[in-house]
Parts: sequence; structure tokens; C-alpha cells
Amino acid sequence: MPDRGAGAAAGVPVGWACPGRSIRRVWSPRGRSAPDACPGALRVHVAADGNLARVRVPGGRLHADQLAALAAAASELGDGGLELTSRGNVQLRGLPAGAERELAARLWAAGLLPSETHERVRNVIASTLSGRAEGGRFDLRTLVDELDQGLCADPALAELPGRFLFTVDDGRGDVTGFGADVGLFAVASDTLAVLLGGTDTGVRLPPAAGAGTALRAARAFLAEYTAQGGTAWRLTELDDGVPRVAHRLRSALDPAFVGSPGGLADAPAPTRPPVGRIAQIDGRLALALMVPLGRLTLAQVDVLEAAARAGAHEINITPWRTVVVPDLGTGEAERRLAALTGEGLVADTSAGWVGVTGCTGRPGCAKALADVRADANRVHPVAAPGPAGLPVHWVGCERRCGRPVDRHVEVLATVDGYQVSLDGRPRSRSATLDETAAAIAAARRGT
Ligand code: SF4
Repeated sequence: MPDRGAGAAAGVPVGWACPGRSIRRVWSPRGRSAPDACPGALRVHVAADGNLARVRVPGGRLHADQLAALAAAASELGDGGLELTSRGNVQLRGLPAGAERELAARLWAAGLLPSETHERVRNVIASTLSGRAEGGRFDLRTLVDELDQGLCADPALAELPGRFLFTVDDGRGDVTGFGADVGLFAVASDTLAVLLGGTDTGVRLPPAAGAGTALRAARAFLAEYTAQGGTAWRLTELDDGVPRVAHRLRSALDPAFVGSPGGLADAPAPTRPPVGRIAQIDGRLALALMVPLGRLTLAQVDVLEAAARAGAHEINITPWRTVVVPDLGTGEAERRLAALTGEGLVADTSAGWVGVTGCTGRPGCAKALADVRADANRVHPVAAPGPAGLPVHWVGCERRCGRPVDRHVEVLATVDGYQVSLDGRPRSRSATLDETAAAIAAARRGT
């Protein structure tokens, strides 16, 4: 099950997330009656097709050896595939009951489970290709590592809800639009802004203080969360969550870091990364590939791992369910691109698959009204493609798991077909896939 599930559609709007350009509307479901049920590697989700384990990949950076370890676990313990989530994590499905101990041992050996107590709270989305791509104001990789290590080192922070999210944005504005509970955004090469629930707190500090301050903000959230009864899943679900947590944070900081709230004049909207060849600032290339419906086959993992080993021995996983292979020379990049696309990964920006995501659907999810992945597979080779087309998200029921944060076309399974919606408004209901494909194509054009 993708990272973001029920709740987002059922809440009440509490205001624009940023006083500059709006980042996104923040929704706040009130009155949670149960703790969040986000799965982890140890606390698996019992699905219709077996147990599901979610492995956190803070910042989306995965070493080639770790990718190989995940693939081996998926092959020997799970259903043979790796799913990418809307927070850039990895899921294994089809695990038999009790397999989580064997999985945990493998993940620990691969460095993918540094803390059993904190495994569900290592939720960090970071700018892709930071330090390599044009436009970034600083290289955030060290900061993300410090944040993850600091998170795991503080026993109290194991109590964060599994949906609590950190973002670290190197100034390109690609991930701040996720409206994280705690966000760091580089407003200059030597200055980070701290955002809570997508709102600028006025706190400004050097990158060296970024990880520590993000952890302080998480502790401030926990203090307010406890004071309010401990039922919220996200910061914006607390009563007056942003101002109250901001007050706690600002009170704990060096006054030199504390400015006037709301001063962020250039707040970014969510942005999707390109696919295909990406020029790095060092002259080498990165390859970014769309993973159809976010599911990697073992054959795809094999070519991906080989490509990673030809470069920096790592891949980056993005929240848009793309994979990025950095640090390739030009000739190597062309050879690897041919191998990767030959296995069905997508690098063509005009391909109908670009921007298409979906939830698990049948048979993996008992709530699903349709096999949305199979239907999406049938529709998208014939649906109108186009780089200007809006993203599309297929869902098997009204929980709308994995719903993108940005504007998109929703294809919702119903008891007798699909409903296609744009901007939250239904545009058509259709009983056949041909009709659904036509409705999607029109909606992607905004017509
Ligand atoms: S069918 Fe519903 S509950 Fe199941 S994964 Fe899809 S949206 Fe979520």
C-alpha cells in the first residue's frame, strides 16, 4: 500500500501552506481514533496477497549492494517484485507470515534497517541528484545522513507517527511542495529556511545546523502531540499545530536563527523531475527512468544494478516512482539506457506511461473494486500521450492511496467501471476501458 492513504480526502482545509506562492492546500483530518497503521519492515501490513513490508530509504539513495539485497529478498521471500512508493521507499509483497524476521536480518546486513525501533519514522524525502544537478543551492547529502542518524539515535523520536515526514530541498523546490511536517528549504547556499506543515516559520540557519534543528522541530511536534492527547498523524492535524509547534521550536533555538514568520517569498510548487538523460554539473549524465506503475521486476532490477555499478554504485528513488542512475559517462549512459528501456523502463517523455501511477488494487488489496494496474496497462499504450498531459492516478477505491500532491487526473474504480475526475470533480463514468481511455486522454489535456 502506498505511503499516503486514507484521510487526505476526508479532512478540512486549514489554509494555504505558504504565505508566498501557495505550495498546496493542507488538509487536516481531525479526531483520529487510532494510531497510524503505516507498515514497516518489521510491522508488516497483512494484505490479500500476503504480507507487505515497507523499507525506508531516507533521501531515496540506495547503494547497488542494497538494491541487490532487496531484489534477493523479494525473490526468495516475497513475490519477486519491488514496489516504489510515493515517498520514495521500497515495498516487498507476498511475504509469508513470519518472514519478517528473516527479512529484518537481511535488511540489517545491507544497512537498510539501522534501527528496529525507528524503522517506520525514517521518512525523509530529499531533492534528487543534489550536488550533481543544475540549480541546487547546496549539496544536501551529508545533511540527510545526519538527520537519519540523529533520528535513529534519539529514543524519544521512535514515538513519531509513521506518517510524519521530513523534506530536505536543496533550493530547486522539487520536494518542498510535499508540505512535510518538517521541511528544510535552501534559500541560499549558506541558509536554510525551516517550514512546518509547509508554512515558513521564519527560522533561518546554516546547513550545518539543519539536521539538529529538524530534529528539534520533531521533538517540538512530539511535545505538542502529547499535550493534545497523542492522536494526530501529522503536524497539521494538531489544533493550531503550525503556530504551536513553531513557538516551541523558536523558543528552543538560538535567537540569531529566529526571524519573522512567513518571509519566504519564493515558495516552490511541487515539481516532477524529468525522465531521460540529465546533464550533471560535472559533465557526466544521469539517467532518469519511469517505472511503470511503480513496480520493478527482477529483470529490471538486474539492469538497474548493473547500470549503477557503472557509475556511482547507487541509484536514487524519487517520490514520483522514477529511478535515477547518476555519474555515467556519455557512452556508458547510452549503452545503459538501451538496456534499461529494453527491459520496459521508460525514458521517453512522450510515452503515455509518464506521469501514470496507481494504487495496489486487486488482487493485492481486499478493498479494491478492480485490478487497476492491469487496466492501466491496457489503457496507457493507447491513451493520448504527451509531455504536457497531466499526471494520472488510478485507485481501486475511495481511500485513494498514493494520491499525488500535485494536480492530476484521478481514475477511480466503481462497482460498474471507472470514474474519471479532475480537480476533485467527476467528469465521466464509463463501463468500458475504451471509454475510460478516451475520458483520461481528454482530462489529461484539461479539455
Ligand atoms: S484499493 Fe483502495 S485501499 Fe486498496 S490500495 Fe487502492 S486505494 Fe488503497
